[in-house]
Amino acid sequence: MPEVKLVNVTKRYGNIVANDNINLTINDGEYVSVIGPSGCGKTTLIKNISGIIKPDEGEIYIAGNLVNEVSIEDRGIGYVFQNIALFPHMTVWENITYGPAVKGWSPEKTNPLALEMLELIKLSARSDAYPSELSGGTQQKTAVARALTSRAELLILDEPLGALDVKVRTELRYELRKLVKDLGLTALHITHDQEEAMSISDRVIVMKRGRIVEVGNPIDLYTKPKNIFTANFVGEANFLTGIILKISDDESLIEIGDGLRLLTKNGNYNVNDRVVVAFRPEFAYITHVKMGNTLSGIITEVMYSGNIGRVRMKLSNGDPIVIKMALGIKNHQFHLNDNITINILPENILVYPYPEKGLEMELALE
Ligand code: ATP
Repeated sequence: MPEVKLVNVTKRYGNIVANDNINLTINDGEYVSVIGPSGCGKTTLIKNISGIIKPDEGEIYIAGNLVNEVSIEDRGIGYVFQNIALFPHMTVWENITYGPAVKGWSPEKTNPLALEMLELIKLSARSDAYPSELSGGTQQKTAVARALTSRAELLILDEPLGALDVKVRTELRYELRKLVKDLGLTALHITHDQEEAMSISDRVIVMKRGRIVEVGNPIDLYTKPKNIFTANFVGEANFLTGIILKISDDESLIEIGDGLRLLTKNGNYNVNDRVVVAFRPEFAYITHVKMGNTLSGIITEVMYSGNIGRVRMKLSNGDPIVIKMALGIKNHQFHLNDNITINILPENILVYPYPEKGLEMELALE
């Protein structure tokens, strides 16, 4: 159950700084995911940790030992990749005992571990099956078991559920986390699916252009992102620009144009500061009773996806916003061009200093 520590790790490919001065500690027994736009350096990060590549600068420690010069095989890491790489001509049992066999372990040493893994993934009855006889989800569970039979205590998962269909993917998330926790492993999981990252992890790392932008537990990252990029990348958010009109104790009143004002629970600003306000689409409520701030506008688009109604509206200051409502709530019938009023609680509004390079640059995913 090793701790993983990166100190000032940088990896360049020509002019591209794929990992730019990364400092990070993954604690013993922690499940950590890495998310970020394509090309932000996620794969480079795990390649650095696993030893597939060497950083140009910085140190990597696993369980307190400097591993920069340690080979891939000797880092005690189990890998699971997106493309389920089981050996097709080998049974489940042969696949999961392959690693120990290559290492020259005796059957006496390997078999109890392999049996334990099979039991954990509930595949004891299918140990003689070939990969082609198993569903994608079961094949991937076998790949996890194979990664762990050599007694790896650090598990690196690169898009492990990416090739599976949505329902299986969602089920396997919980099994994967449970397995990691039951065995007391440390896991580092890369994914394009931020919902997967949020539901499976103790902490999530958000990367952008080779750097770590923010690290936090899933709830804090969603409800209190420290910067605009995270607020935008993790989930969905509305961003509006405004000017601080009034400050009192821990509240500030912000003008967002055309006389529209929002009271927010954020006092770290000065009057006349230019700011960005953000709120999640589902934190806008439609109620008969006024709650917090009210904003009115015209509905410009309505979309229903399963149990969620997603409504685009244009505020009187011209700004477009999106709100989401769970169906089953009384007011879920929305009609194009209707005028609606939404309520947003001050504590659900995030406030950020207006970025030096402008809001669009800050929101850009490239
Ligand atoms: P994706 O989500 O698309 O897999 P990523 O976040 O994993 O992307 P990396 O694969 O780590 O990103 O790449 C980071 C940057 O380094 C990218 O600009 C990529 O083009 C560049 N890069 C990665 N590997 C190499 C390489 N072998 N040679 C040159 N450039 C590379």
